[in-house]
Amino acid sequence: MEHVAAVPAWALLAYLVSGVLFILALRGLSSPETSRAGNRNGMIGMGIAVVTTLATHDIASLPEIAAAIILGGGIGFITARRIAMTAMPQLVAAFHSLVGLAAVLVAAAAFLNPQAFGIADASGAIFGASRVEMVLGIAIGAITFSGSVIAFAKLNGNMSGTPILLPARHIINLALLLAIAFFTFGFWHSQSAMDFWIVVGLSFLIGFLLIIPIGGADMPVVVSMLNSYSGWAAAAMGFTLQNTAMIITGALVGSSGAILSYIMCKAMNRSFISVIAGGFGAEAGPAGAAAAIDRPWKRGSAEDAAFLMQNAEKVIIVPGYGMAVAQAQHVLREMGDKLKHQGVDVRYAIHPVAGRMPGHMNVLLAEANVPYDEVFELEDINTDFGQADVAFVIGANDVTNPAAKTDKTSPIYGMPVLDVEKAKTVLFIKRSMGGVGYAGVDNELFYRDNTMMLLADAKKMVEEIVKNLD
Ligand code: NDP
Repeated sequence: MEHVAAVPAWALLAYLVSGVLFILALRGLSSPETSRAGNRNGMIGMGIAVVTTLATHDIASLPEIAAAIILGGGIGFITARRIAMTAMPQLVAAFHSLVGLAAVLVAAAAFLNPQAFGIADASGAIFGASRVEMVLGIAIGAITFSGSVIAFAKLNGNMSGTPILLPARHIINLALLLAIAFFTFGFWHSQSAMDFWIVVGLSFLIGFLLIIPIGGADMPVVVSMLNSYSGWAAAAMGFTLQNTAMIITGALVGSSGAILSYIMCKAMNRSFISVIAGGFGAEAGPAGAAAAIDRPWKRGSAEDAAFLMQNAEKVIIVPGYGMAVAQAQHVLREMGDKLKHQGVDVRYAIHPVAGRMPGHMNVLLAEANVPYDEVFELEDINTDFGQADVAFVIGANDVTNPAAKTDKTSPIYGMPVLDVEKAKTVLFIKRSMGGVGYAGVDNELFYRDNTMMLLADAKKMVEEIVKNLD
């Protein structure tokens, strides 16, 4: 039997070092203060892993590899620089689809030329364990690819976010999973090319069918779940390629993606199973918009808002998706600074799913140099709204909606929300009374006695308020 040359001890050590750096990267990313260092550790770890792999393998053509890295890296660099912060979830979905496709291509290459990968004997028979690893890698990779393409299309508006519910979809999916298991067994048993390609085809199909019934509101959880899948696909390919760094990295991505999905489900009070089963968000939109028309509400101006906040002792700012759309974070920090100079206690309350991705608001506030010690998570600040004079809600809607606490029929029922209504006055910045949040439902806080609506683009309104604070 022909095996690949044993990996030298120094290379194993180098892979271990890069694995440790990846773990430090994840640890660093858990807090805004350490996230830059975390990113740096991750980049160094990846650099070590790439150099070690290049140094320990017979590279057919270094210029070709360099050209591929420059081309791929260049496209990634330009895309990441150009992308608007609000379009980040679809960018992540697009990138995951590429990871899935890469796993499929590597597995296909290993299947077509197993000896080059050192996973077959002289007669071309692929080792049993390698057959299972490669078919798992290709199945998870294909599911990740087609699932991520649908997630991208839904998030990017190329496809409606409304769930597409096929009759008997659970039975179809179950039958497909059983068929994948059957042909995987067939491939393991006889190394049949037909079984291999059938698994590829069925996996692309099930990835597509699993994601089409999931509504827009659950899509970010799905993206994080697909992120986890892409990690497991990479780990499976790491076994095929006998590359320790890839196994470690894949397992880290797989498990952290799974944990993130769990945290997001908890923050939205959704069960993971119900996200996967799909259907949420079907009635989003028009009902809430229609309800907004004929109820009385109070409109305020920038001058009113400035007056109220200048005369307040405590102001809690609640940013949401609209702040990201308007890119109002810099002028918001300016407003906070002015109020602080005038002796007002200013703090920021962040809901775990405010915006469109985990940490969305934290990233924007950090970009605007808002001090970290003024930024609080929901569970640390929610009881303080009762003592606040003003809750300044800028482009947040669903994360403040009390329907989550009271209305069992609401799609956000059960989601923990910020208790902004307990403040003496609630100021809401949004562009129109008709506009709804992500879940597509109206917010009865807009019509309460202690609420004043500031209808305008968030950046323009805060600029006006800042002028009135002088
Ligand atoms: P919402 O999507 O509920 O509301 C956004 C608000 O911003 C709307 O009221 C909108 O009203 C307003 N808005 C939009 N653009 C502007 C602008 N330029 N200027 C001023 N206002 C603007 O945001 P939240 O942050 O409160 O809630 C996030 C939602 O996303 C939740 O439903 C959450 O479950 C969901 N979600 C978030 C995830 C995450 O990881 N963060 C993951 C999954 C889902 P108008 O159009 O009238 O201006």
